[in-house]
Amino acid sequence: MHIRIQNLVKKFGETVALKGVSLEIQSQELFFLLGPSGCGKTTLLRLLAGFYQPDAGELLFGDENMAGIPPHRRNTAMVFQNYALWPHMTVAENVAYGLDVRGVTGSNRKQRVSEALGIVQMEPYADRSPNQLSGGQQQRVALARALVIKPDVLLLDEPLSNLDAKLRLEMREEIRRIHDQTRITTVYVTHDQKEALSLANRMAVLRDGQVEQIGEPRTVYREPANRFVADFIGETNWYPAEITAFVGAEATLKTQFGLFQAASTKPRKAGDKVLLGIRPEAVEIGNGPCNELNTIIRHVSYLGEVEQYGLELAPGILMKAFEQNPAEIRLVGAPLQVHVRPANALLMNH
Ligand code: ATP
Repeated sequence: MHIRIQNLVKKFGETVALKGVSLEIQSQELFFLLGPSGCGKTTLLRLLAGFYQPDAGELLFGDENMAGIPPHRRNTAMVFQNYALWPHMTVAENVAYGLDVRGVTGSNRKQRVSEALGIVQMEPYADRSPNQLSGGQQQRVALARALVIKPDVLLLDEPLSNLDAKLRLEMREEIRRIHDQTRITTVYVTHDQKEALSLANRMAVLRDGQVEQIGEPRTVYREPANRFVADFIGETNWYPAEITAFVGAEATLKTQFGLFQAASTKPRKAGDKVLLGIRPEAVEIGNGPCNELNTIIRHVSYLGEVEQYGLELAPGILMKAFEQNPAEIRLVGAPLQVHVRPANALLMNH
């Protein structure tokens, strides 16, 4: 189902939760709404479900305008973070609920319940009560309950945030598998950028009721539209800088720690004040073709798969850096030469 959202505005009294949001979600897409708490993600999801009506703007499912169409006539299904299963019904009865409401009975009902439980690999648990299941299993049942009605649009509201870290990773893979198998157009709300980066076909980053950027995970991560998106989607070291030359697509910058080369997709000119962003993982240890920096290690934090350093570039100027699979022990106070490839630098308007 193709979804078109045009200039959608939603107010709650004085609060403007959505300030004219426009975006398109393609049929069969796994689309993420990502942003910090209060940015309007849940409000947008609820507008899609029909739980709220917009104050202005349009929402179209395919060619059909959703204005005034109540939730039960939209053929959407929502999964909540707290599962919202009925405790007095078995797993199978919970899953069948949406079919009962729609008047699906007999062998068709039975077959669809077992098909939906099959998709989430919960068939053996059909006769159990939800309180005899783990959190992850309950979330699978909640997914089956949504899938059983064969929705045109599946709406997921932070579906994994009640699960512990390891289970969350496992369920991420499950959601991907289920989406690959069903190809249901899915809108997934989260504030977890790793969840969005690892699963999304495309995502919209929201801030304060507005869309800051729409794109594929790699584009949003590598070419963030602004500092807010860059900071929200990952970690970045920021330094004020001034362009001294711009040749081809590469800028020479004057920084507090010397000259620096950075690729720029936008044209720049000498004298422009910019912010230079360097992701911690873009810092490479050892010599390089350019942007070699002689630093002093000021902090070390061992995290197993990665070691995190605070490097001093010049008096009082620090840079966070990651080293994958650290084998060598590096000590605070020791010098460390690093380099950054120009293509891995971010440039933002100051
Ligand atoms: P979170 O990640 O914390 O759930 P969110 O991005 O989903 O946040 P929304 O729940 O959509 O954000 O809220 C957006 C804004 O609208 C917030 O300022 C919130 O306080 C306000 N808001 C949401 N629902 C209501 C409501 N029913 N009544 C009044 N204000 C509301």
